[in-house]
Amino acid sequence: MTNDSFSSLFISKAQVANLDVLGYKKMTPIQAQSLPQILQGKDLIAKAKTGSGKTAAFGIGLLEQINPRFFGVQALVLCPTRELADQVGKELRRLARSIPNIKLVSLCGGKPFGPQRTSLEHGAHIAVGTPGRIQDHLNKKTIQLDGLKMLILDEADRMLDMGFFEVINEIIAKTPKTRQTLLFSATYPNAIKQISRSIQRNPVTITAEAEHQPGVIQQLFYEVKKHERNNTLLALFEHYKPESTLVFCHTKKQCNEVASLLRERKIDALAIHGDLEQRERDQVLVQFANNSCPVLVATDVAARGLDIKSLQAVINYELPRDPEIYVHRIGRTGRAGQKGIALSIVIESEQFRINAIEKYLSKPCICSVLAALDRSPGFTLQAPMVTIQINAGRKHKIRPGDLLGALTGDAGLPGSQIGKIDIFDMSSFVALERAALRQALNYLANGKVKGRNIRARKIS
Ligand code: AMP
Repeated sequence: MTNDSFSSLFISKAQVANLDVLGYKKMTPIQAQSLPQILQGKDLIAKAKTGSGKTAAFGIGLLEQINPRFFGVQALVLCPTRELADQVGKELRRLARSIPNIKLVSLCGGKPFGPQRTSLEHGAHIAVGTPGRIQDHLNKKTIQLDGLKMLILDEADRMLDMGFFEVINEIIAKTPKTRQTLLFSATYPNAIKQISRSIQRNPVTITAEAEHQPGVIQQLFYEVKKHERNNTLLALFEHYKPESTLVFCHTKKQCNEVASLLRERKIDALAIHGDLEQRERDQVLVQFANNSCPVLVATDVAARGLDIKSLQAVINYELPRDPEIYVHRIGRTGRAGQKGIALSIVIESEQFRINAIEKYLSKPCICSVLAALDRSPGFTLQAPMVTIQINAGRKHKIRPGDLLGALTGDAGLPGSQIGKIDIFDMSSFVALERAALRQALNYLANGKVKGRNIRARKIS
């Protein structure tokens, strides 16, 4: 049994008091399981997602290790993206309030190099950043890692997916062998096991939460011939008629092809993968989340950051090689107390992938055939909403209420025809019922929002 009060840990009284001020009354499961091990100096692999409290788990652990009187980098946190690094930095700063004079430097790509170098020159105890930029600092000798006590890989699986394997190894080669290494990862594929073997010593493995409740997700596998893959995908839509679906593909090319195929058959679909620019990615995600696009076709990497509340179906256009990725994919449906359906297209030569899933889940997979699906000729799937983009956003001090006010007030639309409003730095997106589109665009062509002339267009 684990004790879940922070005061049961060997940490400073000041930190216990700080956690209380932060409102952390008791440990989350990942903290209760990992902190005793981390505080004993053990290496650790923790399977945990964002939202589990993993940052505080390693944060509390690393702060106990820091010697404030030594002004060198003693803890390094590697993150896949700048967004995550910023989030981690913020949480560590909150936790570090309990120790006077702790300096943290954020080392991310896309930010000017000079200020980072200056911060490092002034002495930083903790560095948080993305692998590429940290490697730049090592190459330019603006960072030294020979005093490093703790190395943390956060979202390690995502860093590997993004191709950081070599860079991470190069960074690790510049750190002392005596360091403690913690690896956090949402999934645990072979590549993670491999990297763990090469960089960790006798790691303790921890899994905080079960992926999902049994029985909530209905799983079905359709075994078909290779040339029937596309036809089966269409048949699945015609038979199950899901209102919101995430289709998983292996490659970017496949994503584009599958999305085009669906659109040709009048099933609204958008593809999302690593080749999209941030702007395009935002547009796709906004449309999927606000009911303007019922189907998203994605690679595993692109689907990672998706925060989707309710999805009726997940379709594996192709089964993943790793059963754990399968479990992760289908966990996108059947959330928040709703039932979900996971449909997988399998070709005969991939039967071994089903075997691996059966072994992993310790239960048989139900296989069916194409002929079992009822086709509805002429089936189409159109989103109930459409999205308009407006060329004014947060930087122009636009708030959702301003847009809602303009559309319901001056433009005369009923509020019930207006859906989700998303405000970005330079632009905003409004979901509208299809029937309201013309009226909204007509108004916005001449009307103003917050006294500004604006431009609006429908996106798709
Ligand atoms: P993370 O999984 O690290 O992204 O943390 C998710 C959120 O949980 C963050 O906003 C933390 O501030 C918060 N949090 C972390 N640990 C605790 C705790 N023991 N009690 C309450 N909230 C926590």
